[in-house]
Amino acid sequence: MNAKHIGICALCGKEKELTFEHLPPNKAFNFTPAKPVNGEDFIHSSDDKNRVPWDLSGLKYQNQQKGMGSFSLCQSCKNLTGTWYGDSYVDFAKRMHFLLSKEVPVDHQAVAFVVRKIYPQRIIKQVVSIFCSINKDIYDDPRITTLREFVLDKEAVSLDKSRYKICAYLNRGILIKYCGLSVLLHINDMKNITSKCVSEFCAYPLGFLIYFDLEEDDSCLGTDITAFSDYAFDDIVDFQITIPIFENNSWIPEDTRSKAEIEQTIAKNKARF
Ligand SMILES: [Zn+2]
Repeated sequence: MNAKHIGICALCGKEKELTFEHLPPNKAFNFTPAKPVNGEDFIHSSDDKNRVPWDLSGLKYQNQQKGMGSFSLCQSCKNLTGTWYGDSYVDFAKRMHFLLSKEVPVDHQAVAFVVRKIYPQRIIKQVVSIFCSINKDIYDDPRITTLREFVLDKEAVSLDKSRYKICAYLNRGILIKYCGLSVLLHINDMKNITSKCVSEFCAYPLGFLIYFDLEEDDSCLGTDITAFSDYAFDDIVDFQITIPIFENNSWIPEDTRSKAEIEQTIAKNKARF
């Protein structure tokens, strides 16, 4: 039975019948069966003190046989963004796969390379489109509205860098992670508490974070690719880029700790409390 999904499209903001959108595109290694688990369910399962963040066994999940995604876009927006941006993103992801699987030793934590003939604007607009889908519940937040307009206008260039910063990293792991807009608090000591707004998605072989209204001295994770938005739709360029390589073992934004590091922290906290 195919139930209709009626809701607000994450891009045009109109109430319409929604179609399933692969996040990221299915040709970008997102075609195997997935079992998405809600972060809240994971938090509420924390009565199991021995559960590590990558252990999702026994949690309620949806069954997505053809890859990860959600009913977030109307047919028209899906077709437009798929035609304009999808292939360029898939091409970029395939090249990153080749790099990770054939060229970069497994213990390397970053890689510098030249990537030739890519469409920077199309790639970043596909990334922003995914962020709009992940944040569909706050589609009318002004920060998201600007991003929606940016994606839906093929000719729009130059995201406001005082408001947005988009960073990329390579991901060796197989967990797919969607983090909607979150506020991260960094408590250095009780007199020095800082916060920042971020949303993240990660799949193999690429992960992205979008930061909102960062202060000048705020740190961020990954390589800043916001300047991809400064290119025109048809600009095709060679890029020299250095990009970090992380694992992804937890649902928390900006958490790139290895499994061993997470286990050490858990053991330390257990000893303390
Ligand atoms: Zn739409």
